[in-house]
Amino acid sequence: MSSPQQARAVIVKTLLSQAVQRIDFSLSTISIDGAAYRALASLVAANEIGVVVEAQDKGVGASYKVSSNDISLSPHFNDADVMQLSYLVHECAHAIHDIYGASGIDTRRGSRTYTTNSEDEAAAYIAGALYYVHAGGPAPVGWHPHWQKAYTIAKSLVGRKGVKIPFHDEMHLRSLIAVRPVYAASGVFGATTSDGI
Ligand SMILES: [Zn+2]
Repeated sequence: MSSPQQARAVIVKTLLSQAVQRIDFSLSTISIDGAAYRALASLVAANEIGVVVEAQDKGVGASYKVSSNDISLSPHFNDADVMQLSYLVHECAHAIHDIYGASGIDTRRGSRTYTTNSEDEAAAYIAGALYYVHAGGPAPVGWHPHWQKAYTIAKSLVGRKGVKIPFHDEMHLRSLIAVRPVYAASGVFGATTSDGI
């Protein structure tokens, strides 16, 4: 991934792919579906959401920067790797959330409510896992528990539209996320960092 132009083309193509367009679920007050990803693709194509290619933190292939509204990809990002593309879909869920500000989103009603970081992350993990499943990624081996849980939830959503994630699954996933070192500071109930675009 050598240039932002190349990265932008990969992002738009991925967001418009069948594997992304079939995503359709809600977790708590956050709903994410193909239409939301299409809206994001338009914003990326118009450079309203920026794209940068730069070194990432260790173990990270992509990130979304809420302060500058940029999707950031590693120069080593491999757009033929389903797992790396699932990270991109995860980060793009954060971008969708940021478009609506520090709040939950209902893309059907256009309404929003306050949300927490763990809800934001849980929705993004399920979106990324759904992409992974839709794109034919192999079953997980040795994954972190939060990724495994997101994958299990995603498998249960395949072929179903607009499913609300059951509260016990939502809270289980959010608790698994909150104990990861990178998310520990905000815990289960800390505020999202999304600030609008
Ligand atoms: Zn995330």
